[in-house]
Amino acid sequence: MSTLRVPYFPLREINGSFEPALSHAISDVVKSGWYLRGHRVADFEADFAASIGVSHCIGVGNGLDALTLTLQALRERHGWTSDCEVIVPAMTFVASALAVVRAGLTPVLADVDERCVMSAATVLPHLSERSRVLLTVHLYGLPAPMPELTELAREHGLLLVEDAAQAHGAVIGGKPVGSWGVAAAFSFYPGKNLGALGDGGAVVTADAELAEAVRRLANYGSATKYLHTDLGVNSRLDEIQAAALSVKLPRLEADNQRRREVARAYNEALRGLPVSLPYDGDTSLSVFHVYPLRCDRRDALQHFLREEAGVETLIHYPHALPDQPALQPFLEKQAAHENFLGLSDGEQHTEDEPSVFSVARSWAATELSLPIHPLMSDEDVACVSNAIRRFFESEI
Ligand SMILES: *Cc1c(COP(=O)(O)O)cnc(C)c1O
Repeated sequence: MSTLRVPYFPLREINGSFEPALSHAISDVVKSGWYLRGHRVADFEADFAASIGVSHCIGVGNGLDALTLTLQALRERHGWTSDCEVIVPAMTFVASALAVVRAGLTPVLADVDERCVMSAATVLPHLSERSRVLLTVHLYGLPAPMPELTELAREHGLLLVEDAAQAHGAVIGGKPVGSWGVAAAFSFYPGKNLGALGDGGAVVTADAELAEAVRRLANYGSATKYLHTDLGVNSRLDEIQAAALSVKLPRLEADNQRRREVARAYNEALRGLPVSLPYDGDTSLSVFHVYPLRCDRRDALQHFLREEAGVETLIHYPHALPDQPALQPFLEKQAAHENFLGLSDGEQHTEDEPSVFSVARSWAATELSLPIHPLMSDEDVACVSNAIRRFFESEI
């Protein structure tokens, strides 16, 4: 086995590149004696909201909570019942669908398009009188087509909520992601484009009343100390994470720019090989949280890169949501409503019952995430690209 030459995401080095500011900021918090609900969280919330161009940001414990609390606040505000539906893309991290269930609503899956995001066309077949929310996910850092989804939501009286956990700093139609929907959820998991040193998340919104409701739900359902109006939870961003994020936020745009350059270099080096380049080589929109290559011989390519070249790759994600065992009860309910067979991957699809969610499932079967991060050198990119070229040469 070859030693690791290009790791997928060298977190120690990446966070090291913010030193000594990062350690100083943390040390200041330690010495301050104030660890929760202080000015560092308030300062970060204000700066992060401003970077997106919205008026409110609520720091919470993680991205799943950010999504869950947003949906719960909307459910309570509108008096939605548990059969009210939230449309979720069939290819995303499981958290997008779990949040819907945890908020007491029903997830309905919609296929993704060739760019692996939900579009108006993929949502349309799944709309019903029970639909309430389009939960759009900017997967891999690519903004979903927000202008057409906004139009669709308006036509059908639906709300748009954004899962922006993979798209910090992305912009579409001149508007930052996170500013399109009634609210958006971000995650600051350490591996995200803006990552903390542990868990963290945020809800951003221009709706003052919704911001208030999320803040209350995240604080034991309390706006006034020891008076509990809602059955809330405890979900907080802490002062140490906020201090770390405030050190890292000013570099987000430059970091995303470097990710784009790396993506462009991959595109140039890989053109002509029997692989599908992300977005047909267009690097203008994505902030490349992931560089999602697609290849029919994905598993063999991943093995070759690891064993013959010391290149670490990941798969995002090996199972589409319709094939997640935990979500089968919701898929069966959807299948009954929509009159398709709720077959898991691997079960037989007959000629006249073609696989639903076929695009999402084809992403699950072919996606390979190449290393991409702000510290990647041109040599790293060449090492990965050359190894991919060697794989296909060795195949002839
Ligand atoms: C990371 C992620 C989440 C969840 O964030 P956590 O902070 O890990 O809870 C939600 N949705 C997507 C698309 C993600 O990538």
